[in-house]
Amino acid sequence: MKNILTLIAAMALLCSSASAQIKKNARVYICTGKAAKSYHLSQKCDALKSCKGEVKQISMAEAIKKGRHLCKYCKGNAKK
Ligand SMILES: [Zn+2]
Repeated sequence: MKNILTLIAAMALLCSSASAQIKKNARVYICTGKAAKSYHLSQKCDALKSCKGEVKQISMAEAIKKGRHLCKYCKGNAKK
């Protein structure tokens, strides 16, 4: 019985880490302009329209590594 519970716990852990991995590999958009400090979930984000540089597609993990945080417009849209 104890073994089954351990197995279920291990499987649940595997599943949750797998979904976290997918999120980290998700594609996000960043503006290469000097003033840009955030990343975007959508290429059509209003904040990206005022981008002074180029819009680049990178992974979410990469964006976080660069010290970017989720854009407030994209964050608001994701909640809807
Ligand atoms: Zn945005």
